[in-house]
Amino acid sequence: MIITDTHTHLYSEAFDEDRSEMIQRAIDAKVERFFIPAIDSVYTEAMLQLEKDFPDHVFLMMGLHPTHVKANYKEELAHVEEMLAKRNFCAVGEIGIDLYWDKTTLEIQIEAFKHQINLAKKYKLPIVIHCREAFDEIFQVLEQEKSDDLFGIFHCFTGNLEQAHKAISFNMKLGIGGVVTFKNGRIDQFINQIDLKHIVLETDSPYLAPKPYRGKRNESMYIEKVLEKISELYGITADEVAKITTQNSKEVFGI
Ligand SMILES: [Zn+2]
Repeated sequence: MIITDTHTHLYSEAFDEDRSEMIQRAIDAKVERFFIPAIDSVYTEAMLQLEKDFPDHVFLMMGLHPTHVKANYKEELAHVEEMLAKRNFCAVGEIGIDLYWDKTTLEIQIEAFKHQINLAKKYKLPIVIHCREAFDEIFQVLEQEKSDDLFGIFHCFTGNLEQAHKAISFNMKLGIGGVVTFKNGRIDQFINQIDLKHIVLETDSPYLAPKPYRGKRNESMYIEKVLEKISELYGITADEVAKITTQNSKEVFGI
């Protein structure tokens, strides 16, 4: 059994004290594939180091996170562009719209999102979408940009059934993480109505730790709890869930 964590910020400062041990713990627990979303240029070096340290396990994305779309966003987008031209990445992410932290940047968030969607198309890469309180705005952009070569993952999917179908209609898989284990997370109410072929697993560590670690630092090993919950909701073994969702991740990332 191989478990794939399709979204984990292993370079985060939260792991500075014990990064290697934490990653080894995950590998020992069969979590052997880590897909690493970018945030902004500040973290690029740490991401490259991570890949050097765990070349068989770590796969890097490149992108500008919507909450980091600020006054200097043009410079940041130039960095994304330069990195994509220079070497291989597995996806453009994480990109999207976040209206929870800052609504005043909506216009430039949309611009940065569209710009990066077009970079993904240019390099034939999937996109990894961050969406917080912005389903309508994200769907509007996807509607404008949709095409056969636009595909990817709706990371940390927290919408309703209708929004799940809509995301899938845009060639997106749903990234399911700790929220599915939360008492008030809601996606556990309907997610088993979605064919497992559309689902990938993630932790978003160090954020969003699943039950019983909720509120604590999350780490990739805890994806076991997400796996268990999905297995319970779909009525199939954890092994099968790991196999299918890992296969789905291979389809998206080509790795
Ligand atoms: Zn993230």
